[in-house]
Amino acid sequence: DISHGTILYLDDVTVSFDGFRALNALSLTIDAGELRCVIGPNGAGKTTMMDVITGKTAPDAGKVFLGQSIDLTRMSEPAIARAGIGRKFQKPTVFENHPVWENLELAMKTDKGWWASLRARLDGAAQARIEATLELIHLEGEARRLAGELSHGQKQRLEIGMLLMQQPALLLLDEPAAGMTDHETMELAELLNKLRGTCSMMVVEHDMEFVAALAGETGRVTVMAEGHVLAHGTLDEVKRDEAVIESYLGR
Ligand code: ADP
Repeated sequence: DISHGTILYLDDVTVSFDGFRALNALSLTIDAGELRCVIGPNGAGKTTMMDVITGKTAPDAGKVFLGQSIDLTRMSEPAIARAGIGRKFQKPTVFENHPVWENLELAMKTDKGWWASLRARLDGAAQARIEATLELIHLEGEARRLAGELSHGQKQRLEIGMLLMQQPALLLLDEPAAGMTDHETMELAELLNKLRGTCSMMVVEHDMEFVAALAGETGRVTVMAEGHVLAHGTLDEVKRDEAVIESYLGR
């Protein structure tokens, strides 16, 4: 349960590659507990933005803040992850040769040190958290199966569960619905909608039906183009925006 306020603030971020501005004075704010969808044509700078937030790419100018005061701008990738930013890449990365429940247990230990994981184990909290997460990601019936035997959609949900075990402040999801069947896509939308309010999320996505399922009628959608924010509003609002229509049709 997080109080209202800003969870992520990008202030005038610029990134150049050999003089080409992949991000051009990008400013963006995400509220705590919000599920924000980010859309935009190829080359808009969406991946570069996530690379800057997670410390993979250092910006040439501008700043990135977590919450009101934690300046992530010059922090290392592991330090940013420890500060509470979890990132899910497009392809699922799970420990294929381990059972589903053990994937969740291993994820909990990551970066927390052996003492924290031992204590979690001794006080029984770990088991309870694994069970609660299994239920949340709707894999309670698959706990003992090897992760490698799961379907693509189930693996994607497992990886989200693994990220949740680290209790992130903000989850960044890069095209999580890519390669999913319609049914799997809707199950994923259901999961992310359940997380709304407890975990802040930024979802970069191309599948507009999925975006519609996440944003609903009131959720805010950010449209990026040419390295900055082109439009911002409900899905209906941005779809009717002249600049948005032009940027999509112009390619
Ligand atoms: P999106 O994710 O919205 O498709 P990207 O962030 O991947 O956009 O890319 C934005 C622009 O920056 C593209 O024109 C891309 O070619 C360029 N770009 C991204 N990464 C690099 C890099 N490492 N070197 C040079 N150009 C890059």
